[in-house]
Amino acid sequence: MTLARNTVEMAAESSPQQPRVSMEEIAALAKRRGFMFGSSEIYGGIGGFFDYGPLGAILKRNVKNAWWRATVELRDDVVAFDSSIIMHPQTWVASGHVAAFHDKLVDCRNCKHRFRADHIPTPGKCPDCGMTGTLTEPRDFNLMLKTSVGPMEDSAAMAYLRPETAQGIFVNFKNIYQTARKRPPFGIAQIGKSFRNEITPGNFTYRMREFEQAELEYFVPDDGNDVACYEAWVAARKQWYADYGVRPERLRFYELLPHERPHYAKAGTDVEYLFPWGWGELESIAHRGTYDLDAHMQLSGKDLQFFDEASKSHYTPILIESSAGMDRTTLTMLVDAYENETIVDDAGKETRRVVLRFHPQIAPIQVGVFPLARNKPELVERARTIEGSLRRSFRTQYDEGNVGQLYRRQDEIGTPACIMVDYETLGDATVTVRDRDTMRQDRVATDQLVGYLGERLGER
Ligand code: ATP
Repeated sequence: MTLARNTVEMAAESSPQQPRVSMEEIAALAKRRGFMFGSSEIYGGIGGFFDYGPLGAILKRNVKNAWWRATVELRDDVVAFDSSIIMHPQTWVASGHVAAFHDKLVDCRNCKHRFRADHIPTPGKCPDCGMTGTLTEPRDFNLMLKTSVGPMEDSAAMAYLRPETAQGIFVNFKNIYQTARKRPPFGIAQIGKSFRNEITPGNFTYRMREFEQAELEYFVPDDGNDVACYEAWVAARKQWYADYGVRPERLRFYELLPHERPHYAKAGTDVEYLFPWGWGELESIAHRGTYDLDAHMQLSGKDLQFFDEASKSHYTPILIESSAGMDRTTLTMLVDAYENETIVDDAGKETRRVVLRFHPQIAPIQVGVFPLARNKPELVERARTIEGSLRRSFRTQYDEGNVGQLYRRQDEIGTPACIMVDYETLGDATVTVRDRDTMRQDRVATDQLVGYLGERLGER
């Protein structure tokens, strides 16, 4: 959690690097191919809320699985957790969100529009209607969304939708370490929805009011290795982005200066991606000291210290946090994978194609399977059988139609391999496998397909 740090999009605009694609193109592709849609569009939509379509839902799930695999499954020092969205309201008093989770807000008295004070390019001038002298003084606006619990809508029933998932971990620290039989250094991870009443949601799914976070809270003893552990997590997260092919020139790890960090934080790094509008934060990694557990112990009066059986001593572990936005990471994968390129066919004719170069683990569909002609039952049946036989090993899709259009569609949704079933298949049981990136076509025996594709695509 970074309280009141909101300068990312502004700071980014001066970047010299040219955008490879506009957000309009990404949004149009997302809509056309079923990645994301604005929420409740038939009623005119609702700002800051999005739905993931058939491909987007898989894409986001793959991003979350990739995070989960690296952070939980491939380690023996991180346990899983899943806390409720609504928590006791005192949670947010202890965390500082009630007192300090604010943006500065100004209203224009003329056009009645509302802006974040730090998003006004010319001081005193309304960015929408252009009038000067019509803006109100900045006032604090709490970003937590409220709801009420139970049949009475009075103040006693008031509750918040969590603005971050981390606090669920902190208040359960003792339950978790005791039942999982873990001792620091160890971590607790969870992925879940968070809600913030952002004043100006925007840049497609970059800034939303309902979004998903993947948070890792790693607890370490105060034995002098805390900063090394923080650095190891920064390195691990760097490796994660590299493993999934995010272009290194469009990713940066910005080390926060002391005045940019909360007073209790010993170190902090923001992971930022160069979006079409500039640099934007994907994740923050921080050394948070004992601040969070201390705050909950103080307000609840309950003990959240770790009891070390060996030395019979109690201590409050130091916390290293990594907090990544899964929607922003999904958007990054989409933007980063996008390529609009010229290709030359066998006859020397130039055409353009849009291709999403997703990493095979991130691609919603890994293998497309088609019959050469959809009106030939023996080809259709064979293609369907092959697709069915690959399902356990890969994310597959059967499709049929004009060959050129089939490839075009699969390129545009980022499918790394496509299989064409043709007349030869019926005779010698081989198929053509086309590679998305090189467009090279190999002839492969159907009984070798799982091995051939496995080598290129890796795990499911
Ligand atoms: P920002 O400065 O962009 O408002 P933040 O610094 O407040 O973000 P954190 O509190 O550090 O964000 O949250 C951790 C991560 O959660 C962010 O890096 C981001 O990926 C994600 N996140 C935060 N707010 C939003 C939002 N409104 N929409 C989508 N993702 C978000």
